[in-house]
Amino acid sequence: MRRWTIALAAAALAGCAGMTPSGGPAGPGVVKVTALGSHDGEFCARDRALVFEDPDGTRILYDAGFTVRGADDPRLGKIDAVLISHLHGDHLGPAHQPSANAGSCGNPQFSVSDVPNSNTVNIVVAKKAKFLVGGDMNTWFMHKVKAAGGDPAQVQLVRFGASAKVGGVKVTTVPAAHTNAVDPAFIDKQLGDMLRANGLLAEVGPPVGYVVSFSNGLVVYLSGDTGVIAEQDVVVRRYYKANLAVINIGDVFTTGPSEAAYVIDDLVKPNSVIASHANEVATQGGKLIPGTRTATFVKLVHVPAYVPLSGKTMSFDGGGKCVAGC
Ligand SMILES: [Zn+2]
Repeated sequence: MRRWTIALAAAALAGCAGMTPSGGPAGPGVVKVTALGSHDGEFCARDRALVFEDPDGTRILYDAGFTVRGADDPRLGKIDAVLISHLHGDHLGPAHQPSANAGSCGNPQFSVSDVPNSNTVNIVVAKKAKFLVGGDMNTWFMHKVKAAGGDPAQVQLVRFGASAKVGGVKVTTVPAAHTNAVDPAFIDKQLGDMLRANGLLAEVGPPVGYVVSFSNGLVVYLSGDTGVIAEQDVVVRRYYKANLAVINIGDVFTTGPSEAAYVIDDLVKPNSVIASHANEVATQGGKLIPGTRTATFVKLVHVPAYVPLSGKTMSFDGGGKCVAGC
C-alpha cells in the first residue's frame, strides 16, 4: 500500500502537466496574455503591445508603441509595471490611435501626438506604474517621467544580469542586437536640431529583451528587436529556462520568419511561441492570411505558434502550454 502511494506520487511528479522544463513544479493558475493592437480581433502592421497578468493579479505592459490608445485606453486597466525594449518610435510611441480600428490594419491612424513625453511615459505616469528599464535608458526616462509630472523613482534600472520584483513576478533584461537611438522629436529642440543637421542620432545605451518569470512557473522571453544572438541559447534557455517566447519576426529591422524559427527551434526551445512585430496585415477576420511573414513563421516553427489577435486573451499554464484562448 505504502509503495503504491509512493509510486503514484512519483508518477504524478513526472507527469508533464505539472512540471516546468527546469524540472521545478509549476505553480497554480494561468498567466493571461492580451494583445493591445490597432484593430479588434486582428494582427496588424504596427502591433507590439502586450499585457501580461499573473495569477496574483500583477499586470505588466510590454512595448506600448502606437496602438495603446493613451493612458485612458480601457484595455489597460490597472498596470503595475511597464517594460520597454528600446526607444524606436514603434515601441516608445510618439503618437497613438484616437479610437479602435482607426485607419486600416496595414496603415493605422495615429493622429494623437504624444511628443515630447511619449505614449509610454504618459502611461507610466498616469498608472503610477514601476518602469523597469535596461541599458542606459534609466537616466533619460527619469528625466522624462519627472517632466510629465511623475516621480523619477518610478523608473527602476534592471541592467543585464540583475532582476526586479513586481508582486510575484520577476523581471530581468537580456541582450538584444539592435540599435537604440531616440528621435530628436523627444529631446531639447536645440540639441535635436544640431543632431539632425549633422546626421547624428542620440543613442541611449543598448536595447534589451526581457525574461519575465511568473508565479505559476511560466517564464516568458520577450525578444525585443534583435537578430539571432548566442545569448538566446546560453542565457535565455540554459540559465532562465524560458518556456514561452514572444519573438519579433518582421525582417528588415529584426529576425525574419526563418531566422526567428531557428531561434525558437534551436536556441530558446520554449514549449510555445507568440509571433510579434510582423509589420504586415497578417490576418483577416482573425484568420492568418496565407503567404504572409506570420503564416510562414507559424509553418516553419516546430512548437505551437500563436498569433496575438488584438483584444483576445490567451492563457498559459506554468509549463508554457496555452490552455485557453489560443
Ligand atoms: Zn521595432
